[in-house]
Amino acid sequence: MKLVTFEMDGRMGSGALHPDGGIVDLTDLGGVLELLTNAEARMAAERRLADPAVKRLTQGLRLRAPLTPRAFICIGLNYMDHVKESSARVPARPVVFAKCPNALAGPDDVITWHADVTQQVDWEAELGVVIGQRCYRVAKAEALRYVGGYTCVNDLSARDIQLTDSAGQYTLGKTLDGFCPIGPCLVTADEIPDPQNLTIRCLVNDEVRQHSNTREMIFGVADLIAHLSRFMTLMPGDLIATGTPPGVGMGMKPPVWLRDGDRVAVEIEGIGALTNTCRVL
Ligand code: MG
Repeated sequence: MKLVTFEMDGRMGSGALHPDGGIVDLTDLGGVLELLTNAEARMAAERRLADPAVKRLTQGLRLRAPLTPRAFICIGLNYMDHVKESSARVPARPVVFAKCPNALAGPDDVITWHADVTQQVDWEAELGVVIGQRCYRVAKAEALRYVGGYTCVNDLSARDIQLTDSAGQYTLGKTLDGFCPIGPCLVTADEIPDPQNLTIRCLVNDEVRQHSNTREMIFGVADLIAHLSRFMTLMPGDLIATGTPPGVGMGMKPPVWLRDGDRVAVEIEGIGALTNTCRVL
């Protein structure tokens, strides 16, 4: 299922994208996290989606972030060519940092920042993994069982804060308000049996800036879950942003940054496109 959170007539609802278009309302069965983790709600949702007579919502609704992650765990430098364009060393173990809940944004949200805070905002298309079951110290071979679903993430990054102002720490320049758009939907893990074979792209104003495949990750999704869960209990709703492929603005010569009015889209095969517009204040 492709689960969504939507806003309609001033209320928030949950639903699933119907293969023939429109959204099937699942609000009475629970929110997206519940649909992901509660087997009974999940089966009821699947039955409703399969009903040929089901009513589909097509108008007057707006997609929001598919869920509010419990934690925003991010992996840096996880594609070889991105390590090179960042002039960084190849990591022996995953590079881990975090974003905070203020960074959450959804599909079509306008992302704003103040010009006196940053002038170097960059895009980072990433596969987002949402944990579906509590896990601690799981083996790599078992790790994918704990995935609830997948979504697109744009790990927006203020490079001047990340690299210049803050002596190399990541988090502050990555967690400005709205700097973690996710969506447009959360695809349940059963629809993506192999997360290491997905085309991933980023387009700025319809121009392709990143184009890669998740098979190019240095540490795959199973490696990341096994590694993280050695140190911390992962819980349902935790988001892992798995790192970005090459083609970020920082790596261009000369560097290119997002500007007022730019439209930035993250596209992942089997998930969809997450589009946001930039507004500089
Ligand atoms: Mg990133």
